[in-house]
Amino acid sequence: MVGSFGKIVVGVYVEIKRSDGRIHQALVTSLNEDNESVTVEWIENGDTKGKEIDFESIFALNPDVAPEEEIAPSPETPPPPTPTSVKVNKITKNRRTIAPTKNGTPSRDNRVVSTRARPAPPQQLEPSPPPPPAQQPAQPTQAQTAQQLTNARRKSNCVKEVEKLQEKRERRRIQQQELREKKAQEVDTTVPNYEILYMIRDFRASLDYRPLSTTDLIEEHRICVCVRKRPLNKKELTIRDLDVITIPSKDVVMVHEPKQKVDLTRYLENQTFRFDYAFDDSTTNEMVYRFTARPLVETIFERGMATCFAYGQTGSGKTHTMGGDFSGKNQDCSKGIYALAARDVFVMLKKPCYKKLDLQVYATFFEIYSGKVFDLLNGKAKLRVLEDGKQQVQVVGLHERDVKCTENVLKLIEVGNSCRTSGQTSANAHSSRSHAVFQIILRRKGKMHGKFSLIDLAGNERGADTSSADRQTRLEGAEINKSLLALKECIRALGRNKPHTPFRASKLTQVLRDSFIGENSRTCMIATISPGMTSCENTLNTLRYANRVKELTVDANQVTEGVHPNIHVVDLLDNDWDHLGSSPQRDDLKLLCEQNEEEVSPQLFNFHEAVSQMVEMEEQVLEDHRAVFQESIRWLEDEKVLLEMTEEVDYDVDSYATQLEQILDQKIDILTELRDKVKSFRSSLQEEEQASKQINPKRPRALL
Ligand code: ADP
Ligand code: MG
Repeated sequence: MVGSFGKIVVGVYVEIKRSDGRIHQALVTSLNEDNESVTVEWIENGDTKGKEIDFESIFALNPDVAPEEEIAPSPETPPPPTPTSVKVNKITKNRRTIAPTKNGTPSRDNRVVSTRARPAPPQQLEPSPPPPPAQQPAQPTQAQTAQQLTNARRKSNCVKEVEKLQEKRERRRIQQQELREKKAQEVDTTVPNYEILYMIRDFRASLDYRPLSTTDLIEEHRICVCVRKRPLNKKELTIRDLDVITIPSKDVVMVHEPKQKVDLTRYLENQTFRFDYAFDDSTTNEMVYRFTARPLVETIFERGMATCFAYGQTGSGKTHTMGGDFSGKNQDCSKGIYALAARDVFVMLKKPCYKKLDLQVYATFFEIYSGKVFDLLNGKAKLRVLEDGKQQVQVVGLHERDVKCTENVLKLIEVGNSCRTSGQTSANAHSSRSHAVFQIILRRKGKMHGKFSLIDLAGNERGADTSSADRQTRLEGAEINKSLLALKECIRALGRNKPHTPFRASKLTQVLRDSFIGENSRTCMIATISPGMTSCENTLNTLRYANRVKELTVDANQVTEGVHPNIHVVDLLDNDWDHLGSSPQRDDLKLLCEQNEEEVSPQLFNFHEAVSQMVEMEEQVLEDHRAVFQESIRWLEDEKVLLEMTEEVDYDVDSYATQLEQILDQKIDILTELRDKVKSFRSSLQEEEQASKQINPKRPRALL
């Protein structure tokens, strides 16, 4: 609308000047014709604030929204905009319409608030009114003369007013021109997606930044979920990827997702998430540690169990956070959370209250890859995970190293890391598919006192590899998918003090089981995110996952009340159950899939089922084959004795025949049994392959 409002409409951003002189952006929320003012709102320190401002002040600071017809064309009027400045205007238009979050601030309960920047409605210029019809002049009377004099006086006041207005217009025109020129200079159209870049830049300019500082309170959380953004890396800088993540305050993360309308106009969809802490790209490991793992060190001295996970896409900074700086030739593990936690364990150990407990410190370092456990402190020996009658899980033969000081621990981390990546073309090639678990264990007279597990998880994007054409990749993907879902459920259950968790659904949660139960267990998840626009979809997935881990601890009822049973899934499960029989692993898998219906389609569940079935069969076949192999050695020895017997002149033929028959019967029985198992195993391999083909294709990638 044009008129006294100029181009101001509800929903646009304008610059406002505060009483302390600060100038920042604010959203127009209403137009008040009565007193020629607008109401604007903005976010400050997490609160929505607002005030009324008169039009003139708005126009003075925002010449581009002033009424257009007031700017009379003059010889100095700038030439029509160049193509670049037209684009600038387009950007400005989009920028001006970026709406803030629904209630002005991300919701406290950690839900996602999505805001969509809408393009402004077309600005209509009203036609100027027609000139009044010409009037015949008449002879003035005395009264009329007096009236004319008064009018003249009024007119001179009017002239002054008009002059004033003209002056104002001129000032605005100059300001507007300066603004245009400034914008034109700023625009670097060689940057790919420069429109998006400027939209994000403008959006950021409207924010009030209050990042985390060392003086911020370290809160006590049973479950702490935080996010860490890493800086753009060399590769991203080379391709001039855009940074689409903003961390305006100590607990808020914003993702500026570029979108495109049908008419090809680009706009930003800004999504806001709130966590316990949000660490921006300038945050050091030491600082991240201070708010995440450090508060958990005390837990293990207080006879508790602590876990700290780094979760995220490959290349987002998990290993950098947990293990330390391994960029280039620099192999410094002293700044990783593993080492920082170990350092504080030895500091705590010296405190009088703990010194008297006479605690010993041990460390383990192992890797879980495709559902199998490998000892990184013992040449990657494959280990078995067993559960006793009391549901106590044991990693059989895991080496627990006695450590006396931080240096001992650093050495072990180095050994484990090189063992983990040995023979790999890149550190990420293998680590993206395996979980690394580093544990610090406190024992008192040999008995477990407390345990701190620090986990560098597999890249979460790998969980989507379930429909790969390559079986190995599929199996890795299935295990990662299952373990990350199970991890989420276990943490949720910890938050609700719920005893039953589907921990058996994955090896990861199985080996960490004792850390998810008990009054004195605490956990922290650090979701690491890449800043680039090219990682936007993965980043959103990471944030959604992290959000769900905590969300349900805020409102426990949501878990059971908010879920509508998916009949289809349940039916499928029941059918499969009859046919497959039950096992604790499968019961947990079923529970896990029921708890995650949104993410686990019936087809994906079937696939997981087929994989479990296949893995179980594989284990059985291998076990039986080993037994048959051992047995064969015995048979050979027996047969040798038997044959030697026949070399005697008067050997007992009856006995020979009977014994040979016995051996052969036994062989046939055992080998037939093994052959049948191999057959079933082979058909389970086929079933797995079939099931993998049924999995729904992934959602289309977000528009980048
Ligand atoms: P991930 O373990 O998640 O696959 P990495 O920890 O290996 O990712 O990080 C990928 C790259 O980014 C590495 O070169 C690492 O040094 C670098 N990097 C990660 N996080 C940061 C950070 N916060 N600051 C600087 N560089 C980082
Ligand atoms: Mg890594």
